[in-house]
Amino acid sequence: MLQDLLKITHTEEQLKARTCELAADISRDYADKNPLFIGVLKGAYIFMAELCKNVTIPCEMAFISASSYRGTQTTGCVSAQTDGLPDLTGRHVILVEDILDTGLTLSHICKVLSSRGTASLEICSMMDKPSRRKTELKGKYVGFEIPDEFVVGYGLDFNEKYRNLPFVGVLKPEVYES
Ligand code: 5GP
Repeated sequence: MLQDLLKITHTEEQLKARTCELAADISRDYADKNPLFIGVLKGAYIFMAELCKNVTIPCEMAFISASSYRGTQTTGCVSAQTDGLPDLTGRHVILVEDILDTGLTLSHICKVLSSRGTASLEICSMMDKPSRRKTELKGKYVGFEIPDEFVVGYGLDFNEKYRNLPFVGVLKPEVYES
């Protein structure tokens, strides 16, 4: 799998250290608010686990699934599966995402969730590609800003592969062009 990468951009140590900083910021900002972390499957599962392990205040967790990508291209057509979420009325929700790209996926999810009476709704994303944004969306808690390159690892996939890499790296173009 390593041979499919052009370069490693973020080591496991860097990812864990930055995630700890985000967890500390959230623990400070949400003290006494019992936040509900909602992870967006599947990409956010490793980041969500690492983040929540380091949050030091009472909190709850849930997951939703969303998809807009096929291969390395967004389809622009977002679908979200929100069955099984708890009642969101009056809840302080933190949406946990692997990567903010065009912002179309999270804009759609934010609309769906805020229509359910949330007290507040913020975004925590491991990676952010601001140059690709097509919406006004901003992450309040962002791990790393990255250039417009297709990255995999630490939950991020290419056609369901590479999610298990403990680091993040750029995929060689010949892998997704073949
Ligand atoms: P958006 O709706 O913001 O364009 O896309 C968000 C989703 O696209 C992410 O949750 C992720 O699944 C996928 N995505 C965007 N950029 C990348 C990338 O560089 N690598 C991978 N693996 N997925 C990406």
